[in-house]
Amino acid sequence: MKTSERLDRLPPYLLAELERKISEKQARGIDVISLGIGDPDTPSPAEVVSALATAAADPSTHQYPSNRGRPEFRNAVADFYERRFGVELHPENEIVPGLGAKETIFNLNLAFLDPGTCALASDPGYPVYSGGPALAGADYVPMPLLPARELAPALSAISAGDAEQARLMFVNYPNNPTGAIVPDGFFTELVEFARAHDVLVVHDASYTETTFDGYVAPSFLETPGAKEVGVEVFSLSKGWNMTGWRTAAIVGNADAVQAYWKLKTNIDSGMFEAVQLAAIAALEQATDFPREMSAKYERRRDMVVSALREIGVEVAPPRGTIYIWAPVPEGHTSASYC
Ligand SMILES: *Cc1c(COP(=O)(O)O)cnc(C)c1O
Repeated sequence: MKTSERLDRLPPYLLAELERKISEKQARGIDVISLGIGDPDTPSPAEVVSALATAAADPSTHQYPSNRGRPEFRNAVADFYERRFGVELHPENEIVPGLGAKETIFNLNLAFLDPGTCALASDPGYPVYSGGPALAGADYVPMPLLPARELAPALSAISAGDAEQARLMFVNYPNNPTGAIVPDGFFTELVEFARAHDVLVVHDASYTETTFDGYVAPSFLETPGAKEVGVEVFSLSKGWNMTGWRTAAIVGNADAVQAYWKLKTNIDSGMFEAVQLAAIAALEQATDFPREMSAKYERRRDMVVSALREIGVEVAPPRGTIYIWAPVPEGHTSASYC
């Protein structure tokens, strides 16, 4: 059997590889504490579970969903953005549900990239930022996150050729895996760069609700001009412990949201409407849940940071996300040190 060149070009998915190693150890009777994939380890909010149970019993949810999402879902996302970020979104054309941030980010690659074009992406970064362009037959250009710039990339270091070919730029704050929060002024720089080079900024907002020490993370769309040049992919996975539910939304620039929607109508048939109703319960009823989870992660963060310091690994406590980013000692790679 011959698989496609586009599939052959892909390295094994990092986290799938870790899962394989973990099962191998478990099969040998070893009790493994996984520090691999970021996946909340406590249940989804009770309000969400009961909203799903009620909605699943309602036959109006049983047919094909609309790829645009139920109006109630889009309205709930718009209300959340208004309340939480002070960002105004039009539910008719600036919001479409996505089956998780992973699917949404991947499909943006198919909607925007051609061979000969590229996506610029934060490096280190979520694997789909590089796998997505590869599967779209396009190029991926890493933008190193620089400690000297508080873990922002240097946009001035992007070559004129790459800037010319770029159609997408993937950024993510609070950041996986570094735990960095967005440096002051960086979102404004992004808007200017995107305008100058006609690039669509895709802000992966998976961790805006997971923050510590009183820090409140902004939406990229709060930045003046952001909606002209960008979209945000907002996921309920991490903030509301809903990784299994596949609930996200793409919001922002109407042309980009509609391009994603057009592609999606040819690929899948949307989000189960009962799940959309459960996601509304998360946004409207389980409003304190992300703060409660953040308090729990903050306690865990402090334990991990002090344990690492005790063994001589100096780390700055992150102000967001569920990750710790630590330098490895001289003479090691990350994998060899782990
Ligand atoms: C977890 C994660 C995702 C995937 O989220 P889903 O909505 O569950 O698909 C995307 N981006 C980053 C940075 C993540 O950490």
